[in-house]
Amino acid sequence: MPTPKDTLIDWLRDAHSMENQAVEMLNRQVERIKHYPELLAKAQEHVQVSNRQAERLEQCLKQLGTSASSIKTGIGMLIGNAQSLSGVLASDEIVKASVFNYAFEHFEIANYRALISAAQLAGEPEIARTLQQSLDEEIEMATWLEQHLPDVTKTFLARQNAGATADAKR
Ligand code: MG
Ligand code: FE
Repeated sequence: MPTPKDTLIDWLRDAHSMENQAVEMLNRQVERIKHYPELLAKAQEHVQVSNRQAERLEQCLKQLGTSASSIKTGIGMLIGNAQSLSGVLASDEIVKASVFNYAFEHFEIANYRALISAAQLAGEPEIARTLQQSLDEEIEMATWLEQHLPDVTKTFLARQNAGATADAKR
């Protein structure tokens, strides 16, 4: 039977691979959102935040006498699939990506909430406090995306409409 500490270690490693996926995903998006400068800046900022969160998880694992070396693929596969799916829908991918990012931040929020409870139960309050910082950052990002999704959608539709009008005049 795994102890609460074993499970905590397992979940910390899962979260570490989740953050690596987040960085990879955001970097892929950053290359393609030049028409949305606010979104671009926020995505770039969140790459830095996510890298710090990954380092934080490495610190937690070190504190528990282990490392992030055993890579889990479960979450990575899930995101890979969702990404290739949104890649197919080429023209409106900015909206699809924004919807996906909003959902992904909530996935991260849920994972950090579970991790914090697991850390508390395993008698690791310091780890719980460290993870609380990452949880606060994910909530901040989710709130930002929530506030900006309507504008991104309207900007996309206005650009699409302008393009259609230009085509009609040709
Ligand atoms: Mg994160
Ligand atoms: Fe995040």
